[in-house]
Amino acid sequence: MGHISVDPAGPRCHCGTVGCVEAIASTKAILDSVRRDTGRSDLDFDGAVRLAREGDRAAWGAFARAGHAIGVGIANLVNLVGPERVVVTGEGLDTYDLLGVHITEAYAAHCFKAAARCPLVLRPLPWEVWARSAAVIGIQALFP
Ligand SMILES: [Zn+2]
Repeated sequence: MGHISVDPAGPRCHCGTVGCVEAIASTKAILDSVRRDTGRSDLDFDGAVRLAREGDRAAWGAFARAGHAIGVGIANLVNLVGPERVVVTGEGLDTYDLLGVHITEAYAAHCFKAAARCPLVLRPLPWEVWARSAAVIGIQALFP
């Protein structure tokens, strides 16, 4: 869903359009935003996270915008497809404390009618779980 446009006035994306979730919420996009808004070009992503957790408004705002973009993107998918449940996990959810409330608030605000009843579950999982899951899928493919 990285290239769902959630903000027509948003930043240009490498795919050629503007306001994609990825252009706002990828690690690079968040870091670029924090660097620009704080004037701290020396920051790495961990530094940006630390600054946001320490309460720096500019850094915090970059994570808030990212969470909002993710929530709107998920809501657009749910409104279109109507799944029973959405589980969000993977890279970046180690910053769940910075993104989570913004994801859930934007999701709730942008789902409508029956889609609004679709539960959104945020599950921060370590990479080992991904590896284990991939191994299971491989084994199932070999031994159906
Ligand atoms: Zn894009």
